[in-house]
Amino acid sequence: MTDQYSVNPALLRPFSPPPRLLMGPGPITVDPRVLRAMSAQLVGQYDPAMTQCMNETMALYRGVFKTKNQWTLLVDGTSRAGIEAVLISLIEPGDKILVPVFGRFGHLLCEIAERCGAEVHKIHKEWGEVFTPDEIETAIKQVQPKVLAIVQGDTSTTMLQPLDHLGEICARHGVLFYSDGTASIGGNPFETDKWQLDAVSVGLQKCLCGPSGSAPITLSEKAVATIRKRRHIEAGIRTDNHIAGSGRRIASNYFDLGMIMDYWGEERLNHHTEATTMLYGARECARILLEEGVENAIERHRIHGKAMAQGLAAMNLKLFGDQSNKMHNVVGVYIPEGVAGEAVRSSMLNDFGIEIGTSFGPLHGKIWRIGTMGYNARKDAVLQTLTALEAVLRRAGHSQTANAGVDTAMTIYTQEGY
Ligand SMILES: *Cc1c(COP(=O)(O)O)cnc(C)c1O
Repeated sequence: MTDQYSVNPALLRPFSPPPRLLMGPGPITVDPRVLRAMSAQLVGQYDPAMTQCMNETMALYRGVFKTKNQWTLLVDGTSRAGIEAVLISLIEPGDKILVPVFGRFGHLLCEIAERCGAEVHKIHKEWGEVFTPDEIETAIKQVQPKVLAIVQGDTSTTMLQPLDHLGEICARHGVLFYSDGTASIGGNPFETDKWQLDAVSVGLQKCLCGPSGSAPITLSEKAVATIRKRRHIEAGIRTDNHIAGSGRRIASNYFDLGMIMDYWGEERLNHHTEATTMLYGARECARILLEEGVENAIERHRIHGKAMAQGLAAMNLKLFGDQSNKMHNVVGVYIPEGVAGEAVRSSMLNDFGIEIGTSFGPLHGKIWRIGTMGYNARKDAVLQTLTALEAVLRRAGHSQTANAGVDTAMTIYTQEGY
């Protein structure tokens, strides 16, 4: 018997993803170790084995972030869940926030801050460039914001904003310093404590080798004090011993970092149901990075990123943006004149099983973005991508010296002792 809701039997086949090498700006092919960790069975949310796993994950992420911050934990959701949690918890409606925008993800910080009711002040750089500390300090003096929010590595432009002088500037002007390090952490230097950051949020799907779905964050004591002023405990779990903050209640329940801290902290106050499978994955991502060593992972991203970029340049392709401020893990390359960008990407995918990235905003249709990150920051992945792209470009009529891409990459590997 069939009824009107019966499903086409063909849909009952399992989904089996085609084999792909993900060489775009993220997500990337996940390290099989992370997939294995994520197939482990659940334990109860307050099982001592679980709370121990949470405490260990906090400690592991202190190593990833390079911080002593007690409040280093996971927000459940993709990277922008971390951004939303930090901004909605730090900002009260009417607060001023300064956002230096140098790509798509700077616009995202503005968009989220606006939804939090902030008075958003933006400064802009052309896509492909970054800000100097002076430019940011001048804007801080003018605006006098409560928060400076800035992306470190903006994959939309492949640029890496230097953060090392900004913490000192923020501290001098009494400004909270927040950065989105999603795309850069693990593949480029990131120093939470040394750079005096008050809040950082990231994701797993770039240099950390994992899938999207968990957003590790870390908060300084100053950030925690700001959030605690608005402490709120839900009716139903509140006791007479709980003292609420005096400020206005944080506008999101799911992203109320005060409540999330109460859940990750000693009291283990009930909040959301732990996304246990993502927790297992996030824990394994941190283990992979710390086993390799953060500095070694950064160096690996530097070398494979350089081999890819120089290989592309040798193929008569022009690289995008200020190369002295490029992220290690992604490169932008101009689509050569007379070549159909989308046809090349589609041949790379369908004929070679390799995904490379397109672009958005002012760069749409102008550049491809090619990543060498996380599990795919590897020699074989770089050489396969260069080989395939050379073949596709040759067939598309692009003029280049045969084998120049792979030969150049090989020379770099020899120079770097690979
Ligand atoms: C890729 C990227 C993200 C991704 O956010 P999701 O919510 O995980 O899609 C966030 N910020 C930056 C800077 C990125 O490059």
